[in-house]
Amino acid sequence: MLALSHINLTFGRFIRASLNWLNTPAVILIYHRVTDLKTDPQMLAVKPENFSKQIEHLKKNYNVLKGEDFFRILKNREQFPPKSILVTFDDGYADNFYQALPILESYNTQALFYISTSQLNTPREFWWDDLERIFLSNTPVPPKLKFQHNSDSHLFNTSTVEERTLTYRKVHPLIKIQDYQIRENTLQQLYSWAGVAAEGRKTHRILTENELLKLSQSSSALIGAHTHNHVPLSTLTYERQIEEMKTSKNILENITGRKISHFSYPFGTTVDYNRQSITAAKELHFSTACANFYWQVHSWNDPLQIPRILVRDWDLNEFQQKMKEFFKY
Ligand SMILES: [Zn+2]
Repeated sequence: MLALSHINLTFGRFIRASLNWLNTPAVILIYHRVTDLKTDPQMLAVKPENFSKQIEHLKKNYNVLKGEDFFRILKNREQFPPKSILVTFDDGYADNFYQALPILESYNTQALFYISTSQLNTPREFWWDDLERIFLSNTPVPPKLKFQHNSDSHLFNTSTVEERTLTYRKVHPLIKIQDYQIRENTLQQLYSWAGVAAEGRKTHRILTENELLKLSQSSSALIGAHTHNHVPLSTLTYERQIEEMKTSKNILENITGRKISHFSYPFGTTVDYNRQSITAAKELHFSTACANFYWQVHSWNDPLQIPRILVRDWDLNEFQQKMKEFFKY
């Protein structure tokens, strides 16, 4: 197994290196949050000081393009200028406006913010943050959890930290594929089981309409859609996929007064969207759609399945190394 995976890795690198020799690679980075959190089990947050150093490094050493310029090159099938970068954010956390935007503005850099719309203006957290709050904080919970998923009933022990961590890991993928009404029922049951409020932590708040409007008015931000309810599109019928994408597009256009032409698939790995999602993006006249799988962007990439690479809370040294790798492999 080890030898085989090593051969696959080496072969993958060889393919990438060959493609990069044929056609100048560009890279799209994905961020989610810029903030300093006590715990961050999903590693979605980059500390403001690290983000600032990362953007400064990109500005000095790379060609950070604006969203429309990056996508025009791709859609015209032109070669990217060397070291082209696009910075993107997914989901729509309030810290995108309060922490990320001032840093982007100070370096005269633009990022594309893909916003999921159903929880704008609400005190609710995203469900993955709710799970963290319920299972991974030190708030005591009952010793057992009976969890219903479709026709299956699961019983989890939740007395110790280890048991709660295991429960969190098992419950997360089950809730991810629940449709949003079922997900809402599940969350309500979990809130009452744990004795926590549905209202979330201020530190995990999502943008308000007013913050989103101000974000959209900055030359350092471009706004894109990310569905209404943040459900993996591959779990939905074609009609429901259209509805999810169209609702977020309409809401964002109403709030910002601008045309929303860019989209990113929730979760974004190749199992989280399907052919119908790509057809739906085309049907709704999205000019581009970004995914979330590791690859560079070349001028032959499908504009409706663009690869992106996740950034973690790396300090300057690690970020420098990672950026070199991103362009090579
Ligand atoms: Zn997302």
